Amino acid sequence: VLLLGIETSCDDTATAVVRGGVHVLANVSTNQDAFHAKYGGIVPEIASRRHAALLSAAVDDALSRAGTHLDQLDGIAVTAGPGLIGSLVVGVAAAKALAFATGLPLYAVNHLHGHLFAAFLERDAPPPYPFLALLVSGGHTQLVEVESPTALRIIGRTRDDAAGEAFDKTARLLDLPFPGGPALEALGRTGDPKAFAFPRHRPDPGTLDMSFSGLKTSVRYFLESDTGKDARREDVAASFQAAVVDVLIDRTARALDARDYRAVVLSGGVAANGALQSAFLALGERYRIPAFVPERRFCTDNAAMIAAAAERRGDVARVDPLHLVADPNLPFT
Ligand code: ATP
Ligand code: FE
Repeated sequence: VLLLGIETSCDDTATAVVRGGVHVLANVSTNQDAFHAKYGGIVPEIASRRHAALLSAAVDDALSRAGTHLDQLDGIAVTAGPGLIGSLVVGVAAAKALAFATGLPLYAVNHLHGHLFAAFLERDAPPPYPFLALLVSGGHTQLVEVESPTALRIIGRTRDDAAGEAFDKTARLLDLPFPGGPALEALGRTGDPKAFAFPRHRPDPGTLDMSFSGLKTSVRYFLESDTGKDARREDVAASFQAAVVDVLIDRTARALDARDYRAVVLSGGVAANGALQSAFLALGERYRIPAFVPERRFCTDNAAMIAAAAERRGDVARVDPLHLVADPNLPFT
C-alpha cells in the first residue's frame, strides 16, 4: 500500500511517501539544528514551534516529490510517541486532521518501532524472522527479540545513558559542536582507537544489560588529568568510540549465543556510525547470519521508517482519527 509518514517526535520535521513499507518515493526532513545549536541541545519549545511552522509545507513537499496526491494514498502513519510532547502533538494533530478530512486509515506508530523497521527500507530481501535487533539512538539503547512485526520483546537495555547520549555528552567534553555523535566520529577518524583503554562496563553479567554513564565519566576524569590534558583529542574520540562499540557488540554477541536468530538488525541514530557498522557486519559473518544496517539517511529520525513500521504492523497500528492521543512515554509494546 501507499502510505504518507509523518514524524515530529523530536527536532526533525519529517515526512515521507513509502510504497509497500519498502520503496521510498519521497523522504523529506527539515533539520532544525541551526535553531538549537547555540543552546548546545534541543529546546523543546523551539522544536514544537518550528514543527508547527514547517509541517504543512513538508507534507505537500513529500507528496509532490513522490508525484502523488492525498487521494491516491492508502493511509497516513504518524509517530504517536515516545518523544517530546510538544513536538509529538503537532504531528499527531496534523495526521488526525488529514485522516479525518480524507477518510483515509490512520496508523499510530511507536517511534522506536520506526527505527527498527528502517532496516526494511529499500531492500530486495527483508530481514527474516525471528531476528535480533540492536536499537541504538539518542534516547534508547536496547536489544529486541523480533518474533514477528507484532511480537517484539526487549531482552537487554542500558541501565543509564543511551549510547547516543554518551556520544553527545562526550562530544561536549571535547568541545565539539552539537549534534555531537557525527562530530565525534569525524574527529576520531584520524585517531588511534587503542590509545587509551577506557572501561567497558557490564553492569550485570547475568543479563544482557549495558551501561554507558561510567564510560563518559572516565573520559571526563581522564581529560582533567595531567596525561589527559596533553592527549590528542583525535585519540580520545577514537578510544571512546571503540569502547562504546565493544560494549554494544559484546552484548549483541551474548544475545546471539543464547538463541538461534535468522538475522541481526542494527537501527537508530547511532547506527549511522561507521565503526559500529563495520563491527556489526563482522558480527553477522562470525555468526553466519545476514546483518542488516539501514542506509544512513534512514538511521537518524525520518518519516520513511514510520511508514515502514505502519505497513508491517498493519491493523495492529490502526487507530481512530478522532481518538488518537500523543503519548510522550508510549510503551515499546
Ligand atoms: P530516540 O530515537 O531514542 O527517541 P532520537 O530520536 O533523539 O532519540 P536518533 O535521531 O535516533 O535519536 O539518533 C540521534 C542520536 O544518534 C544522537 O545521540 C546522535 O549523536 C547519534 N548519532 C548520529 N550520528 C552518529 C554517528 N555517526 N556516530 C555516533 N552517534 C551518532
Ligand atoms: Fe529517534
